[in-house]
Amino acid sequence: DLAARMAERAADVVKYLMKQGQMVRVNDVLDSDTAELIIEDFGHIAKRVSESDVEEGFIDSDDPEEAKKPRPPVVTVMGHVDHGKTSLLDALRETDVAAGEAGGITQHIGAYQVKLKSGDRITFLDTPGHAAFSAMRSRGAQATDIVILVVAADDGVMPQTIEAIKHAQAANAPIIVAVNKMDREGANPQKVLTDLLQHEVIVESMGGEVQAIEVSALKKTGLNDLTDAITMQAELLELTANPDRPADGVVVESQVEQGRGSVATVLVKRGTLKRGDIVVAGSQWGRVRALIDERNQQLKSIGPSQPAEILGLDGAPEPGELFAVVDSEARAREIVDYRQRQKRQSASAAGTGGASLEQMLARLKTSESQEVPLVVKADVQGSAEAIAQSVEKIGNDEVKARVIHGAAGGVNESDILLAKASGAPVFAFNVRANKQARELAEKEGVEIRYYSVIYDLIDDVKATLEGMLAPEK
Ligand code: GDP
Repeated sequence: DLAARMAERAADVVKYLMKQGQMVRVNDVLDSDTAELIIEDFGHIAKRVSESDVEEGFIDSDDPEEAKKPRPPVVTVMGHVDHGKTSLLDALRETDVAAGEAGGITQHIGAYQVKLKSGDRITFLDTPGHAAFSAMRSRGAQATDIVILVVAADDGVMPQTIEAIKHAQAANAPIIVAVNKMDREGANPQKVLTDLLQHEVIVESMGGEVQAIEVSALKKTGLNDLTDAITMQAELLELTANPDRPADGVVVESQVEQGRGSVATVLVKRGTLKRGDIVVAGSQWGRVRALIDERNQQLKSIGPSQPAEILGLDGAPEPGELFAVVDSEARAREIVDYRQRQKRQSASAAGTGGASLEQMLARLKTSESQEVPLVVKADVQGSAEAIAQSVEKIGNDEVKARVIHGAAGGVNESDILLAKASGAPVFAFNVRANKQARELAEKEGVEIRYYSVIYDLIDDVKATLEGMLAPEK
């Protein structure tokens, strides 16, 4: 490949390397530094692949409108622990009418698709939890179209309910509320809906636009109403994608299994993924040897919003990483080589792309967005609110601070993930971060600032906003 690109003979390149004491064959892979030396010695100019070359095909210009066809919605279930996320996902699985035709869903692959009586399809990501959702988003993958917020009718809005709302709002994903455990004595759906008001989730019965459905995952009631609500929401979103192009999408799960090698569940965002395609996923690549769905069936191809396991990658990409089909092995190698180099570089320059105040400001300066996002945790709800109010008054038409999440309590992992995904620093007022949160913040390059005097905190925000404006005047 290298010889061809230089318009030289492959044999000459091999000979050259042998003279240098490197025994290579024509199809061996060279590292990029060696390649660069060869190119120069042959009198050519090396052009390193840039990020935009590499990402081409991943964030390609949009498809023409007329090529786009409707696609099923992709739905994530979130909510407080024990409110019934897992039970609801299990129950929804049984709404599948295709179960009779093709055998039921037999294996957990991180996502499944159900076919409704109406013929509509819905794809559920069944890795519940805010961590998975944020991990995907922080890698730039907006996999979810709709968030189902599960709230137990006998327990009401709890801290992780609120976290889930923040995550959905930050991702701009519409919420459908599933008021679960309606079979329980003491179920009080009205209280759930009223409590949600405080968090800007205004359901239809209260004059808002959010659908709320009463269900029991245990007794399997209300499930059809819930799937109806999802299809209705999906229609409003007018979800479309072009199926007639090389596929790209997102990695949902992956692992290396004995005897099967690397197994990655992918979700196609657009295009059609076929057996035999060459795929790059994060910094792994390979030829798709098999496509297997949640019913353990071998498929020839999958289209937009459809999940499947793929076999054939040379390693396990991280959940949330993007994948795309490329046209040749050489191209795949080039991209992977570039990414691995980038990874090594960013590992040595710790903290790049993170969420410290400085990095965020640097990003803001070069972007249109002039809202400075902040995550605020405080010892009591009252202080969190007071801080949010004061901070949001600072600034002017050009720049403003916005508290995307303000709550009472110590800084936890969910805060860090939210901060990372939104590129926001965390302001901790009279509270500490727990060990897991500190480690995660360190790893993800999220800055946590600690304060014990409100005015210090506000002054800091003020100073930074003023600092941003100064150069323009
Ligand atoms: P998750 O932590 O949100 O995934 O919650 P689970 O699905 O594990 O449910 C937690 C507990 O609540 C389990 O014991 C379930 O059996 C129970 N549960 C879930 N849904 C319902 C329901 O609709 N009614 C009743 N009575 N119990 C439920």
